[in-house]
Amino acid sequence: MNRRPLSRSLVPLDDESLAGFLLRLAKYTGCSPAVIADRMGLGQYYRAAMPIGSLLTLSSEQLAECAQVARLSHAEMEGLLLAPLGRRYGPLNHQLWPWSGPQQLTYLRRWVYLRNTQFCSHCLTSDNSVFGVLLGGSWKRRWHLAVSFACVEHRRLLKRNCPRCQHPAQAARWGIIEHAAEEDLHPTQCRASIHWKTSSKSGSICGTYLTDGPNKAPISSDPSTRNELLALQGRIDTLLSINGPDTAASCGQPVPVAQYFLDLRAVAALIFISWPQARSSAATPTLARVIGGEATRRRQRASDTLRRAKSAPIGDIFLEPPTRPMATGAVLSTAEQLLNAACDSEGRAALAELYQQSEQTRPTVSRRIADTPGISPVLRGSLGLPVRRLGTRPRRRATAQGAK
Ligand SMILES: [Zn+2]
Ligand SMILES: [Zn+2]
Repeated sequence: MNRRPLSRSLVPLDDESLAGFLLRLAKYTGCSPAVIADRMGLGQYYRAAMPIGSLLTLSSEQLAECAQVARLSHAEMEGLLLAPLGRRYGPLNHQLWPWSGPQQLTYLRRWVYLRNTQFCSHCLTSDNSVFGVLLGGSWKRRWHLAVSFACVEHRRLLKRNCPRCQHPAQAARWGIIEHAAEEDLHPTQCRASIHWKTSSKSGSICGTYLTDGPNKAPISSDPSTRNELLALQGRIDTLLSINGPDTAASCGQPVPVAQYFLDLRAVAALIFISWPQARSSAATPTLARVIGGEATRRRQRASDTLRRAKSAPIGDIFLEPPTRPMATGAVLSTAEQLLNAACDSEGRAALAELYQQSEQTRPTVSRRIADTPGISPVLRGSLGLPVRRLGTRPRRRATAQGAK
């Protein structure tokens, strides 16, 4: 279908997501996001709800139509989607960890936030330019990735929830934008449904500006912890950036950057299962304490789940990314340290011990982690497992009934 271009449009901001762009474009043109999405051909399934998969990828026809309507180049339009990040981020990479539709990426164990996002209030506040004041800053694609936990520029941990209603940012019951037919909201306002009433007004949309927030505290009162987390996020951001290196060192060998993130994810899960096995690899006592608290909560959840149903699956409890950005930073920092140290025999022995301890504690989950498609052969070798070629499927192993 040949769609009519909008009379005016915007240039996408740095690393802006499709949802963020639609919100800003709607505000700029005085329409609702649903109207803009409809014009772009994104809302055909349900007028006010763009399918969740449109955050990820679009067909070539849709991409061309959307670009034409929004007056963007093909590259600008594609640059709003999450799937292209898979070139550098293993959980989104088709070749390393195949996925055929968005439903496979909505599971938290995949380490991609599709149903909501994280955010930095300061980034959303943007600069003092005319457009910045009018429309706010970029809702970044990178905030949808679980390896993002801090904003290096503003030296703050990312936030997940609206400070007023506590709903996750950009969570929508259907599609990618909640209350998409509502045209009076600013791109940085919380669109969650809540019910409130005062003597003179009532409403059902939270409307809190996510540029505000009571939390102005630094990442940590401990300078070593603060510096470690910001430096780690900086290294991760470099690996994710378009001009970043092609490879990263995992267990002493260069592996594709996308694969390195799968290695980090696998080691992070093993750290939680086997804690305190990796305590000596934590960069600071504060980070060790944070991991310890997170590991205890996960084990408790697993025990409670098994108490309710003996054969209940508990793998995701250890495979999900932490909900608190501080815990994400803590476990990724320790996982990075373990992968770095495994460049020699002593470091590889530490990784092998980590896996052995995990397997003793939760055998089924540990083997599932080690069998994750796409983790590097050098990591599998360092864990003491047989190395398999990329694309070969792991064989199912017989396990004792009820074993986890
Ligand atoms: Zn920021
Ligand atoms: Zn809210």
